[in-house]
Amino acid sequence: MQKVIQCPCGAVLQGEGDDAVVALAQQHAKSAHAMDLSREDALAMARPA
Ligand SMILES: [Zn+2]
Repeated sequence: MQKVIQCPCGAVLQGEGDDAVVALAQQHAKSAHAMDLSREDALAMARPA
C-alpha cells in the first residue's frame, strides 16, 4: 500500500508501505532539516496515497 507524508516544508515523500515511507521521511528530515524523526512521528504524518 502506497503511503505519503507531506512535510511542512512542502516536500512530498511517498513509498510502498510503512517502512519505505518512514525511511524516506527520516532521510528527508535529516538531510533537509538536520532533524531526527522518530518512526512514531513519521507514521503519525503518513496518509494513504
Ligand atoms: Zn521538509
